[in-house]
Amino acid sequence: MNCFVKQKHYERLRRFFLWANGMEIERKILIKDRKKSADDYLCEYFVGSGPRTVSSAVHVTADNKYQAKVMATIIARCPDLVFGGAFHTHPCGLLAPSGQDRRTALDVLLERRGWSGWGLSEFLCLIGTQLNHEFSIKAYVISKDHQEFVEIPVVVSDSISQGSRGNEQ
Ligand SMILES: [Zn+2]
Repeated sequence: MNCFVKQKHYERLRRFFLWANGMEIERKILIKDRKKSADDYLCEYFVGSGPRTVSSAVHVTADNKYQAKVMATIIARCPDLVFGGAFHTHPCGLLAPSGQDRRTALDVLLERRGWSGWGLSEFLCLIGTQLNHEFSIKAYVISKDHQEFVEIPVVVSDSISQGSRGNEQ
């Protein structure tokens, strides 16, 4: 099981990370329905955090209502996409998800605090951070049944269509 990120998305996230200059940033991720993606996570859309985002160096609160609307619009047009996770950055350099990240993911999976209706059994947590002075993305999956994050490999590739394989980051 891999997490595929298109080269153009990776570049955009990297530039945004540098532009944010130490402020945490966030994107919701639409992935290809995993029943149709050979079990891989194919990141197809990164949805902007919206006009009411509140961001600091240690925390970002996205405009979830805005994002839910955008995601519903895209899914209506592309029915094989589903809401699958979120990307956020750790400007401090922390590579792994924090305790707060786990609580947020469990809120989504257990449909707490405004997250009802999505029916997710797994949640992908992508973390962008600085590793050896380079922007780097790490991927973690947490499931409803096994409520701990498990790291999976990130593959940055130009083509992430079903079954394709790129170079591992
Ligand atoms: Zn975090």
